[in-house]
Amino acid sequence: MNIVILGPPGAGKGTYARLLSEKYTIPTISVGDLFRKAITDETKLGKSVKNYLSSGELVPDKIVIEVVKNRLEEEDCKKGFLLDGYPRTVPQAEAMMNFNRIDVAFNFVVPDDVIASRIGGRRTCSKCGAIFHLINVPPKVEGICDICGGTLIQRVDEKPQIIKNRLEIFREKTKPVADYLRTKGLVVDIDANYPIEEIDKIIDQCENYLQTLR
Ligand code: ADP
Ligand code: ZN
Repeated sequence: MNIVILGPPGAGKGTYARLLSEKYTIPTISVGDLFRKAITDETKLGKSVKNYLSSGELVPDKIVIEVVKNRLEEEDCKKGFLLDGYPRTVPQAEAMMNFNRIDVAFNFVVPDDVIASRIGGRRTCSKCGAIFHLINVPPKVEGICDICGGTLIQRVDEKPQIIKNRLEIFREKTKPVADYLRTKGLVVDIDANYPIEEIDKIIDQCENYLQTLR
């Protein structure tokens, strides 16, 4: 199954992707994570995308398309994948239609006011990348990762001013992606406005749809 994950920043896409990836044993390809790893490893790619990520701007299509296309050609994606963070522009979506067959694009829908508080409270482990939330998913010890003991940090692009910028870019550039994929009959809307304790209600909607594909 080749699945695309759509939705605004802060919709919880990474979390849903992880749960679905465990259930269906297919890898999650997170474009943001690919870029952040490249930045940490100080590769050529990392150097070319660094400034875009820290300001919340989109990386140019040409770079993104190349990175994603190559990644999806790797062996582990042969039996399926979950693609998180791509496509984010209509040209990226058009390119995708040429290089991969997509079964469904789950579009996670969350009201605007919920989004801002979800991102603002998010804290990420600097060592293993696990995600916590000051209110929704607090770590057992403040500032420390439950899983590996690493220090929790706020991503630079999760500070208020940058969040605002990312939401504006989402409205302008990424919302049209869902409209475009809808015309291809690929979009299934998922109501993601549930508290974290009821995350099953969100995942169930995805599973119910995937059942119909089998
Ligand atoms: P979120 O899903 O919370 O917005 P991501 O980790 O997916 O965060 O992305 C972080 C940053 O990586 C984006 O703000 C952008 O700079 C860059 N990025 C990720 N995916 C894409 C993409 N498909 N096109 C352009 N830039 C991207
Ligand atoms: Zn950790």
